[in-house]
Amino acid sequence: MHPIYLDHSATTPVCHDAVTAMLPYFHEHFGNSSSLHAFGRDATAALDAARAVVACELGARPNEIIFTACGTESDNLALRGAAFAMRKRNPNKTHLITAHAEHHAVAGTLHQLRDWFGFELTELPVDTNGFVNPDDVRRAIRPQTALVSVMAANNEVGTLQAIGKIGALCREHSVLFHTDAVQCPAYMTIDVKQLNIDLMALSAHKFYGPKGVGILYMRDGTPYLPTNTGGGHERGRRAGTVNVAGAVGTATALKYVAKNREVQSARLQVLRDQLIAGILADVSDVRLSGHPQQRLPHHASLLFKDVDGEMLLMSLDVEGIAVSTGSACTSGNPEPSGVLVAMGIAHEWALGGLRITLGYDTTEAEIDYVIRTLPKCVSRVRKAMHYIG
Ligand code: PLP
Repeated sequence: MHPIYLDHSATTPVCHDAVTAMLPYFHEHFGNSSSLHAFGRDATAALDAARAVVACELGARPNEIIFTACGTESDNLALRGAAFAMRKRNPNKTHLITAHAEHHAVAGTLHQLRDWFGFELTELPVDTNGFVNPDDVRRAIRPQTALVSVMAANNEVGTLQAIGKIGALCREHSVLFHTDAVQCPAYMTIDVKQLNIDLMALSAHKFYGPKGVGILYMRDGTPYLPTNTGGGHERGRRAGTVNVAGAVGTATALKYVAKNREVQSARLQVLRDQLIAGILADVSDVRLSGHPQQRLPHHASLLFKDVDGEMLLMSLDVEGIAVSTGSACTSGNPEPSGVLVAMGIAHEWALGGLRITLGYDTTEAEIDYVIRTLPKCVSRVRKAMHYIG
């Protein structure tokens, strides 16, 4: 069997629609969207059209959509830009709230704001399923609070957060709400107005679009200081020549997932549940991590007791199965994942975390092969670890 790709939370292939839509913008319509001549106007028209599509898909207005270079950049710009602007308006607004188990793009930025820029940061606990209690958010908000950041779906364990509730209570308390929804668009509709989101990060390569393009949604009127400076692109909010081909591909991919997400989510949830049931039945000392129901439909994350997750990943790789030990950005790091530690998972389980994420092309035959192959790999790794001592 061909190598089986089950790491769609790390990245997805670019859909054919997006490739086709992008091609003319590399060679024929290659203009800089900031140029005033015909080539530039061509690029601007394509960019405007892409922005309108993205806005429409998210329930936003086109001027609220900023194209960036990745999800990480969107998180960085949003958090720094809003925190600095809130404090500039009102010097008492120095308190930020987030939860443990955020992606590094958020956690690292907020830690910097705390350690280098004098903000106070409350990091709320997550429960054993990786879930943030909205009541904890409510209790943590105080008059000094500028911003709350809670991710929509966890990349490592798949847990969905109650962002609707958190957004509503932030609005009630006039606190900005940022969410990293990078893992969501392929599987769920996000309506930024309905969810009371002020700032949101997305990344095209997670929803069958190209790498190197992010989206930052910024609600009209959100206090914001641009933290990368330069040529005033994106209405002065993100400097740097815009990746027009990438923006076209991103808009096309977003339309593609909007068309497919309902059917695919239902299909993948069935396959994913078969996979989990098969593994739990055939392997000893294994458990699911993340919320059993409130989770992304394509996402299976498992903990294997007394197994080195990286060794298991390599053993599966040899069998032609590509998965991840956690988030792709932290692989190569032998420490247990911070997310699993925050969930209170004991060390002997936390080192054996595996993430298997299905995609639109995943077939039942592939899942059957994984169910048949994985138990062998686990016992091989356990034996090897026994000999290593
Ligand atoms: N946020 C989450 C939840 C992610 O899963 C990722 C990527 O794994 C990112 C942010 C970063 O996105 P990008 O790779 O586009 O920088």
